Amino acid sequence: MSNKTQETLDLYNSVVMPTYAPSTVLSSGKGVTVRDVDGLALYDFTSGIGVHNVGHSHSKVVKAVQDQAAKLIHASNLFANSPATELAAKLVELSGLGGKVFFCNSGAEANEAAIKLARKWGSQNGGRFEIVTMRQGFHGRTLATVAATAQSWCQEGYDPLPVGFAYADFNDLESVKAAVSEKTVAIMLEAVQGEGGVTPATPEFIAGVRALCDEKNLLMICDEVQSGMGRTGTWFAWQGYDVKPDLFTLAKSLADGIPMGALVSNAKFADVFTKSAHASTFGGNPVAAAAALAVIDVIEEEKLLKRATEIGNLFKEVLQGFVDKYDKLLEVRGKGLMLGLVVDGDPKEIVDALKDQGLLALTAGSNVVRFLPPLVLKEETLEEASDMISDALDCVYGE
Ligand SMILES: *Cc1c(COP(=O)(O)O)cnc(C)c1O
Repeated sequence: MSNKTQETLDLYNSVVMPTYAPSTVLSSGKGVTVRDVDGLALYDFTSGIGVHNVGHSHSKVVKAVQDQAAKLIHASNLFANSPATELAAKLVELSGLGGKVFFCNSGAEANEAAIKLARKWGSQNGGRFEIVTMRQGFHGRTLATVAATAQSWCQEGYDPLPVGFAYADFNDLESVKAAVSEKTVAIMLEAVQGEGGVTPATPEFIAGVRALCDEKNLLMICDEVQSGMGRTGTWFAWQGYDVKPDLFTLAKSLADGIPMGALVSNAKFADVFTKSAHASTFGGNPVAAAAALAVIDVIEEEKLLKRATEIGNLFKEVLQGFVDKYDKLLEVRGKGLMLGLVVDGDPKEIVDALKDQGLLALTAGSNVVRFLPPLVLKEETLEEASDMISDALDCVYGE
């Protein structure tokens, strides 16, 4: 490790709580490429964990942020601001749900808002409060969203967790039905599970969940924090199915890295949060909102929804080729540019080998290598990346 990296990591390890264990220090990014403090270039197939759908430092986003920062950085919610108002209108339009938006600052907070809204409505509709979530799902790291995340690795040590969650198996409608009781007010799920292993819902499952919600008068909540803003080839992953949720949440890619979260409702639940029922000082920050408006413009102008599907299919074929070649690679799954390579073994050794080749990727669940490249990915770059993946797999599995 060279000087600047080592120097920064030494200081980092002495002053930053050890919840993460970075080995690289980034200093810049453009499009699909990032550079570390020593000038080493890497292809970022993590997109900063599903954040840079339009690539790092897209010129339109940079300009929108700079212009807005020079005008008004913060308004509080005692006063409205134009970028957030325009953004809310745009999200309502893209959703087609005819509802309203609540702004916050992260994915966990957006889900927290969804949970609170569901409980508030449930308190007036039969005194119901319980929310059914899916095993292998992921909803964030606040206490309530940790309780909503049915995975022991993120719950251990934090008892007592907030009550009011019941767990079911993803893609198993009978299990969801069994988890619903007279206390249930909502069912919350990712249309494509991210952290849990890049697993898309089957169309039958998600349609079954919608039908169950209609039958039992429950809210259907989609967590689109990772799968949203074009990642899977539609604005929101639920739009790739024949269903409409009552609420859905956004964050990661919404404002290309300026912290921002949003809860979007349909018309029925648009006014459940009444005056002072919920709040966030920074929610709807004008700089973040300006960035998000630029992200939406770029996705439209550069036709990135179509691109996510097309280049995602190409990438899937490439990965399938490796599955055909290596016995230790079991399956490719995912949608658009949210792809997972299921391995028989530890995915971390492949992610490490990829990094040695100059390609950043992620793990998901206990046995999946996860790829979330920017949607601006070009075919030439995908070809180069494919060679890197090929070399990394040769290193790990020996050729
Ligand atoms: C990352 C993620 C979250 C949490 O978002 P934060 O911004 O880290 O709080 C919630 N849900 C899903 C599906 C995610 O991928």
